[in-house]
Amino acid sequence: MNKPFSIVSMQIDELKPSRGYERLVRCRDTTTGLDALISIHSTKFGPAAGGCRMWAYTRLEDAIYDVERLSRGMTYKNAAADLPLGGGKSVIIGDPDKIKTPALMRAFGQFIEHFNGTYYTAEDVGISPNDMAHAAEMTRYVAGLETGEFASGDPSPVTARGVYLCLKKTAEVRLGVNNLSGMRIAVQGLGNVGMALAEMLHNDGAVLTVSDINKDRLTEARSRFGAAEVGLNDIYDADVDIFAPCALGGVLTPDVISRLRARVVAGAANNQLSTPDCGQLLQQEGILYAPDYIVNGGGIVNVAVEILGKTDPEWGERRILGLVDTLNTVLTRAAQTGTPTNIVADALIDEKLERANG
Ligand code: NAD
Repeated sequence: MNKPFSIVSMQIDELKPSRGYERLVRCRDTTTGLDALISIHSTKFGPAAGGCRMWAYTRLEDAIYDVERLSRGMTYKNAAADLPLGGGKSVIIGDPDKIKTPALMRAFGQFIEHFNGTYYTAEDVGISPNDMAHAAEMTRYVAGLETGEFASGDPSPVTARGVYLCLKKTAEVRLGVNNLSGMRIAVQGLGNVGMALAEMLHNDGAVLTVSDINKDRLTEARSRFGAAEVGLNDIYDADVDIFAPCALGGVLTPDVISRLRARVVAGAANNQLSTPDCGQLLQQEGILYAPDYIVNGGGIVNVAVEILGKTDPEWGERRILGLVDTLNTVLTRAAQTGTPTNIVADALIDEKLERANG
């Protein structure tokens, strides 16, 4: 790591964060064109950790809204995985295809360094491991690297394992089955996580229905797992027991929920509920929803191994099993109180935060 050199063109401003947040900081650098925000929602459980998203926001308010929303989400995700990490997020404003350069990423690394280890970043939408390697030239508070002593590489296999175990737990609770043999499961999105999940489900004897915009991925799932393909919009009507959204956020809309024939929803995608009220709609339809930020916590567990420099190979696996324990607590409480699982999950983390506040 190079020692940060001083860039006189860089301006760092503390902005007023929204209520309940610790910090909101903006960095502008006229030399490289960097315009970035870092939101720290909470450091109650440890240094804030959450990825960096690069997006062509048209208004500063939109970027602030997004970075704060995502930062708070990381507090919940990290706490659900029982990690000694708080919640934070960063955004770089601009079209990655147009303005992203190694110099811009190095300037971003300097901005991270400004937080002196209270915020760790990693890749998110628009940022690759190679981009992070440029940022890491200026700061050690970067994860998701492909090289280095604790480099954790692609988190997808670990994420997929967490999704698989959580899906099995939810099926056990809702459908009363302790193995997935013969279960009909729809997997939406056969990307890094969805394909790995499909493989595990197939190995357990599940019958798969899949959708993806990528034809090669569909062909692969058909030849490797005998999966039946359906159209992008038809996956919601599939006659299945379990629906695993592993593509996009916001797929669980009132319309989709009314069409689902599955009794269980458990998948990798972030922010699956189009609005929080959809948690209640799912409950009314008798569909047991496994809250996404618990189910997909394997990704942040993988990053945490790198941030915390864990050398014990079992540490990550214990955290993954811990996701299933957290989910089980949520499902049990939801059944006891008749409350939607998304509400129970948030309340569980709120209680944890309150205890940490003393
Ligand atoms: P990916 O980009 O590798 O895969 C996404 C797949 O979805 C692609 O194959 C894409 O073609 C497909 N897709 C896009 N639009 C679709 C549509 N309308 N219908 C069906 N398929 C569609 O992403 P990934 O890493 O596999 O992540 C999947 C989801 O899980 C994302 O929402 C991501 O935010 C979330 N997630 C991933 C990780 C991780 O470790 N990779 C961790 C936590 C959460």
